[in-house]
Amino acid sequence: MQLKEWFGGSVIHIHTRLENKSAEYQPGEEIQFTLSGLSEYARRFSGNGYMVVVDTDHAALSIHPNWALDQRQEYFFPQNTEKTVKQISEDVRTRAKKIRESESSHVLTGTETDILNSSGMLDVNNDVLSSLDLVIASFHYYPWAANNFVGGEKKHIDLKEILMAYERVAANPHVDVIGHPTTYIQKYNRDVALLPEWEPLFRIMKMAGTAFELNLSTLLRIKEPEEFDLKVIGLAAEHGVNFLLGLDLHNLKMFGSELKSDFVIDEQSAARAFDKNVGKANMNFFYSLKGLIKLLKANGLTREMIVNSSDEKFNKWLESRK
Ligand SMILES: [Zn+2]
Ligand SMILES: [Zn+2]
Repeated sequence: MQLKEWFGGSVIHIHTRLENKSAEYQPGEEIQFTLSGLSEYARRFSGNGYMVVVDTDHAALSIHPNWALDQRQEYFFPQNTEKTVKQISEDVRTRAKKIRESESSHVLTGTETDILNSSGMLDVNNDVLSSLDLVIASFHYYPWAANNFVGGEKKHIDLKEILMAYERVAANPHVDVIGHPTTYIQKYNRDVALLPEWEPLFRIMKMAGTAFELNLSTLLRIKEPEEFDLKVIGLAAEHGVNFLLGLDLHNLKMFGSELKSDFVIDEQSAARAFDKNVGKANMNFFYSLKGLIKLLKANGLTREMIVNSSDEKFNKWLESRK
């Protein structure tokens, strides 16, 4: 089946909490799963009883887990950044340690770290990043604004600055994936006429082996991906860049489930949540994924370019990153 050839490997880019359901619901990012609940859900989803999941929560959520990313801006004001990075790095290290000690061997450690400025600074230090199995670095507007504009106010970010940041991040040997590279590119920078400006980045990614994330949460949520996103993806493919399929899963609602996101899915409730979804959300997901694959193929992608199309391929790629 074609779908499995593209998406038959590890489940990557997931947002979960470690604690069980007695912990408070996290309204900020609407995170619905516990890590073991998601592993159980994925196991049922794959139907083969085994699925590798990679823990990649927002690094910054370690401070005030109930806040959304835009609420923690002051932590990224220049005068606070050093202290914040130190704290977040220690939190990420602790989380990874807990996972290694308590979760089964098919859970890998990782993080989604924020890109803070055009010099490619991240909110987790290299020492901690190098101890993780997989590192996704993403540009989100708010931490960047906090770090670059007085008071974190809304301002124009030049595409050149973002691309410079991506280039530095891609060349950082501790970063494996650039998360949703086009998702938060502002309207005024979403211009196919500016495509050639992306080329130096893709040359660096090709050389460094860094993967470009195909973010399913963005690409499947909207009815059809915009021409701009597809053109950037196509250009990366032309340059021989690696791709990684990432779910960016916060809750099932984002994939069309009627299950409320305050229904916490832990190991015990995963079966019930799965059964409730089989009819609609899971099918929706498959159909939209099928449509997306068609569009990706039309833009020059092949499944061979995807590093997590199978577990075997993913392991090999991870090995090559060490
Ligand atoms: Zn993100
Ligand atoms: Zn994410």
